Amino acid sequence: MDIEHNLQHIKSQLPEHVTLVAVSKTKPVSAILEAYNSGQRIFGENKIQEMAEKYEQLPKDIEWHMIGHVQRNKVKYMAHFVDLIHGVDNLKLLREINKQAEKHDRVIKCLLQIKIAEEDSKFGMPPEDALKLLQDEAFKELKHIAIVGVMGMATFTNDEAQIKTEFSCLKTTFDKLNAFQPMEIISMGMSGDYPLAIECGSTMVRVGSSIFGERNYL
Ligand SMILES: *Cc1c(COP(=O)(O)O)cnc(C)c1O
Repeated sequence: MDIEHNLQHIKSQLPEHVTLVAVSKTKPVSAILEAYNSGQRIFGENKIQEMAEKYEQLPKDIEWHMIGHVQRNKVKYMAHFVDLIHGVDNLKLLREINKQAEKHDRVIKCLLQIKIAEEDSKFGMPPEDALKLLQDEAFKELKHIAIVGVMGMATFTNDEAQIKTEFSCLKTTFDKLNAFQPMEIISMGMSGDYPLAIECGSTMVRVGSSIFGERNYL
């Protein structure tokens, strides 16, 4: 796999307002360094401990994004360095992130993960719950987190029309939240569907295998 070539190819397709998160989960530090040396600075991981180990070993100007499901008891292992947490879908988790961020005198940026897929294996809150959360008095007291956008994953299918409907649902949800409280990020699109996601309004794509090659899960 020629990581530099793959990165250049993908970046050449991205409009200027779309940020690329290079998803490096399961990939070695050497692969991340290769991407780093070709200019990539934002990396996404889906396991907190794996991300923390890589953070220790790699240049400190990397922005680390947690894109996976977050277990509350592990937030403390990333609170000192994580740049953006994509998968936040409940107040209890936000409270824990707030508490850990406060210990480090930081404000941690978060995205609300919205359930847009038809299949129900995916995490995320129903679209109609997101605005309620922002309006919740208990939420307003959390000073060490900032909700800067939304994240979603489409159903794993070849049906483009369905994926488009789901992505559009995330965009609509974003527009409603954004009218209540200005935010910037719509995190949607992976290797298989990022061009479609961009068409539907994505401002941040999370691309792994198209950069680093297929993952081998042991
Ligand atoms: C693994 C993963 C990606 C990247 O998937 P690819 O198909 O390899 O691009 C994006 N988002 C999330 C949440 C992931 O877990």
